[in-house]
Amino acid sequence: MRIVRFATKGGAKYGVVREGRVHEVQGDICGKYTVAKSGAPLGRLRLLPPCEPTKIVGVGLNYRDHAEEMHFPIPEEPVLFLKPLTAILPPEGKIVYPPSCQRLDYEAELAIVIKRKARYVPPAKALRYVLGYTCFNDVTARDLQKKDGRSTRAKSFDTFAPFGPWIETALNLDDAPVRARLNGIIMQDSNISNFIFDVPTLVSFVSEVMTLEPGDLIATGTPSGIGPMQPGDVIEIEVGGIGTLRNRVVKA
Ligand code: MG
Repeated sequence: MRIVRFATKGGAKYGVVREGRVHEVQGDICGKYTVAKSGAPLGRLRLLPPCEPTKIVGVGLNYRDHAEEMHFPIPEEPVLFLKPLTAILPPEGKIVYPPSCQRLDYEAELAIVIKRKARYVPPAKALRYVLGYTCFNDVTARDLQKKDGRSTRAKSFDTFAPFGPWIETALNLDDAPVRARLNGIIMQDSNISNFIFDVPTLVSFVSEVMTLEPGDLIATGTPSGIGPMQPGDVIEIEVGGIGTLRNRVVKA
């Protein structure tokens, strides 16, 4: 099932995509809801970020190839960071290139969307707490990350957390390609089968640190092939089985 969130005159609504049409949802998308019989064409709606997280948890170094590219040792446990909610950007929203940054990178990632409150969840039960999955671009000011020796500033600018275009509730967790395309050229091309820590391990690990709430996101890390974007560029993050998140970079 594909879940979208879209703008209407009466505010944001959730919907379910069926054969190119969006059927409005009444109720709680993470709980009990009904789906309208008739739908509007997907292309006619303005899509919003497909959920409303209380936090975005990032995972550093979750692909062996990316750890090698960055000359970092393979981590023994997930390395976590947070991105602020003010960084959220909808599909087709514009990524703003900050004046203080000299190198702005894309990072293609799969994001996990949490379905229900999760605390101390064992890996074997973790998938019960997952609503679905979406595409995420963990936009990073690479020069500031190196300069600061940490990621807080580098990953926290407004517009640095684009995600969408929708939540896919069913994904093959053994085989999902993760790609970044810059102006149509493939720059990252990996698969979540290369994860160091799989989806149940990540949900369990994070839930041992902090309470996960419905709609919260875990961005699962990026593969090798990270690189810079320039104002005017179009960056697309594609996860096979989900879809493509598309954003343009603009000058501040
Ligand atoms: Mg990342």
